[in-house]
Amino acid sequence: MSEPAVVARLTREATSGLSAADLEEFYRDLHRHPELSFQEHRTAARLAARLRAAGYEVTEGVGRTGVVAVLANGDGPVVWLRGDMDALPVREATGLSYASAVEGLMHACGHDLHITWLTGAAEALAAARDLWAGTLVVVGQPAEEAGGGASAMVADGVHERFPRPDVLLGQHVTPGLVGFYPHTPGLTLSASDEIDIVVRGVGGHGARPESTVDPLVTAAYVVTRLQTVVSRETAANRSVVLTVGQFHSGTKPNIIPEEARLSLSLRTQDTKVRERVIAAVRRIVEGECAAAGCPEPPEIAHIPGYPATVNDVALDEEIAAVHRELLGAHTVFDFGQVMGSEDFSLLAPEGVPYDFWYVTSTPAEVWEAAPGEELTEKFVNVPGNHSPLFAPDLSVVLPGVRTLVSAALSRLA
Ligand code: ZN
Ligand code: ZN
Repeated sequence: MSEPAVVARLTREATSGLSAADLEEFYRDLHRHPELSFQEHRTAARLAARLRAAGYEVTEGVGRTGVVAVLANGDGPVVWLRGDMDALPVREATGLSYASAVEGLMHACGHDLHITWLTGAAEALAAARDLWAGTLVVVGQPAEEAGGGASAMVADGVHERFPRPDVLLGQHVTPGLVGFYPHTPGLTLSASDEIDIVVRGVGGHGARPESTVDPLVTAAYVVTRLQTVVSRETAANRSVVLTVGQFHSGTKPNIIPEEARLSLSLRTQDTKVRERVIAAVRRIVEGECAAAGCPEPPEIAHIPGYPATVNDVALDEEIAAVHRELLGAHTVFDFGQVMGSEDFSLLAPEGVPYDFWYVTSTPAEVWEAAPGEELTEKFVNVPGNHSPLFAPDLSVVLPGVRTLVSAALSRLA
């Protein structure tokens, strides 16, 4: 590792030739053309073309739609920079001139910005290769949005087919007044799990409920009672989120349906707590179905999601120091832990340190206009990731490239 002041100076030098206008145009193009998980063909092709032009050896189709680009530049560490590519089934409501041109799809999580940053950083580091030594591996990951894209790349041999990382680096755009680079040493993102439930009743005429076992009412009790898992079964100093995000049942007002389907999203930060919460969900669902007299037990399918993201403390502190030096001491602060989840960490082989930090993006006028005095109040009142109104300020394009370049140079310089 190098001194933060040296890394900051090299970063300014390496990024001095970048064109903000060019990268902004690239970003607007990606934003206009969102693609769902594992369908990122156009995005991957755009990324691959620019990396190839910059001198990288590029492999496409890794983990279905993933891109891996390698720049070997002498003896030194292997640094992986990762950005994710997929968009969401959200109907954009920003009204931006470069809003999504695809009906019902939107880059609502900012992965278009991640690919723009990744491209800018890869180009800058390639152009300035006389300033560093080592191997740079640029990873365009598919299907982060609960799609298992990182796992797909690992299953496709990303750790065996390409130079194995000594360190893995990535960043995510977030709401918050533009111009800050929050870092969290240690645990930063939570583990996620999904549970799909089918409550089976006995269907019949809506006018004769006595001849049925109503799965809709039973499932409604399940939803209500599940709220007690966090409020009554989890210690107040433990962080858990349990959200029932899907509830489907019935076809007509006068028909009692045969089944109801629920899907839950769980977020936890501790293995023991996670196991207890999953067991509590099973107990409650089975108990409510038994209480209702369902003719058969419910189906409960646990779909393990992403693990918790735990930054290497020393690495995070090293990169945070570089970002302070480069962007101003006041711009870096500890974000604390959040309940969101990422599969970023799966791209680091066991024991390889990784760091994942954030770039705030809320335009100043949107932040000022948001209700609330405190930072935390405003934070919940501005459009965030997955909102149809999420619209990062374009001024984040170059700083987000610099945070990635400087983090890479902290190891490669
Ligand atoms: Zn997302
Ligand atoms: Zn995301």
